[in-house]
Amino acid sequence: MAETVDVIVIGAGIGGLTAAALLQERGLSTIVYEKNSFPGGSCSSFSKGGYRFDAGASVFYGFCDEDARGTLNLHARIFRKLGIPVLTIPDPVQIHYHMPAGFDVPVHYDRNRFLECLYGRFPHEREGIRRFYDELESVYDILSSLPAGSLEDLFHLAAVGGRHPIKAVALGVKTLFSMGGTARRYIHDQELLRFIDLESYSWAVQDALSTPLVNAGICLADRHHGGINYPVGGSGAIPEALVKGIEKFGGSVRFKSEVEQVIMEEGAAKGVRLRGGEEVRARAVVSNATVWDTFNRIVDDPRLKVPDERFVKAPSWFQIYLGVDGSVIPEGFDMHHIIVDDWTKYDQYGGTIYFSAPTVLDPSLAPSGKHALHIFVTAETWQWDKFDRHGEEYKRAKEEYARSIIARVEKILPGLQDCVELMVTATPQTHVRYLNRRDGSYGPLLKPGQNVLLKPQNRTPVKNLYAAGDSTFPGQGVIAVTYSGVSCASYVARQLGRPLDYL
Ligand SMILES: Cc1cc2nc3c(=O)[nH]c(=O)nc-3n(C[C@H](O)[C@H](O)[C@H](O)COP(=O)(O)OP(=O)(O)OC[C@H]3O[C@@H](n4cnc5c(N)ncnc54)[C@H](O)[C@@H]3O)c2cc1C
Repeated sequence: MAETVDVIVIGAGIGGLTAAALLQERGLSTIVYEKNSFPGGSCSSFSKGGYRFDAGASVFYGFCDEDARGTLNLHARIFRKLGIPVLTIPDPVQIHYHMPAGFDVPVHYDRNRFLECLYGRFPHEREGIRRFYDELESVYDILSSLPAGSLEDLFHLAAVGGRHPIKAVALGVKTLFSMGGTARRYIHDQELLRFIDLESYSWAVQDALSTPLVNAGICLADRHHGGINYPVGGSGAIPEALVKGIEKFGGSVRFKSEVEQVIMEEGAAKGVRLRGGEEVRARAVVSNATVWDTFNRIVDDPRLKVPDERFVKAPSWFQIYLGVDGSVIPEGFDMHHIIVDDWTKYDQYGGTIYFSAPTVLDPSLAPSGKHALHIFVTAETWQWDKFDRHGEEYKRAKEEYARSIIARVEKILPGLQDCVELMVTATPQTHVRYLNRRDGSYGPLLKPGQNVLLKPQNRTPVKNLYAAGDSTFPGQGVIAVTYSGVSCASYVARQLGRPLDYL
């Protein structure tokens, strides 16, 4: 007879692992199936030539342990609940922006220091800058005082509405506004508005007009409160700690186990069939795959297919991982940088360069005297389709494109090209292969102007099938998918008769 558990989670990304850890800790038996041999998906680490690289994410919110309030220190609260410590190093600068015409802004943890940089370049916009960033603070103040839970759970909504009626209404009103629309109420300088677009693009891959004010209230305000903290040992330390938490309470994460199909009976999810044919049954199934991959690949019901165009499909990435001689990184160099050479191209493929040097904070990630660097730009699978993945031409094209980007990074690191000792590249095709993500996409985005509450929540059209991860509210980013994992676990736990306590 097939094994039966309370909950099966498809995928060990941060969204899936978070949901699994909280459900298992609550006593609901949970198995996570992950196609790779490691956890974390877009937030994982890999080793090569003595270096430990972050495969994707490296700017982390939610680790501040001092402030016991609210939803914004979710990682700290979850790991405290699981009893699994994750050591982190505070990052004093969230991102150092390098833009055309010598416009250079390090986003300091110290909010006043950051604002002084903007006042220095835009003295005529001093009042507008203050009011715009104060508006983000007011969103932060609300979010940091409300508990995390499912917006589909009437008990949660009643509890929040009952205890914090004014804040709940105020937050509802704020969901009607975009980050860019709010900025334009206070600010008129075009160069400054471009910077605000870039602030949004840096995590949302959309301009500020397309980005909800509420999301901006987390990303652009909490960096000055809870701050940005980097896990010792690299980004993979986060999913590894979640796996430990799941196992500590009796659950399991099964690697190299790809789910081929959700077993459906009478319109309800009843379990999964793995590649190889094994079937496992469950009372609830949570998919951590994207909405496209869930409904076009593993749920076999033509009526539920999700066409690409139902959402805005974010681009994928071309990524470069470098091992370099340490002499190229000057003393006091910041960990994260974003480089834009031309404002007319910042939102085109390759127009914005994302750069991180995690060894600035954690030297253990590289051999002594060396640094591990991660550089990436937006890209699409169709740009690389013409190549045979095993052919020389593909290798040459990747190397040439990588070299052209490294040359542009010389703007902030002169001499970089001559210091490269190891280079690994990854195209959108690599992203598809490792993460099972439709076209390697960063995920589905809201349409410009769409209310953030219209983002899919954790329930799906299939009974007993739920979703966690960046296809669901609130969206992309490690802290966002952690929220989605928390809200999914809260909803599922209540359905299965064991409601979670608030974190
Ligand atoms: C290059 C890059 C840089 C980023 N930088 C940052 C950053 O600095 N800060 C930040 O907060 N966010 C960043 N992000 C975004 C963040 O990493 C993601 O939004 C988040 O990690 C997505 O998590 P997830 O749980 O939705 O899914 P994923 O990470 O996609 O994980 C899903 C998992 O499910 C597995 N899976 C899928 N289908 C199946 C199946 N059928 N069977 C078994 N397993 C399956 C996949 O193998 C994968 O492991 C970055 C992302 C990228 C790509």
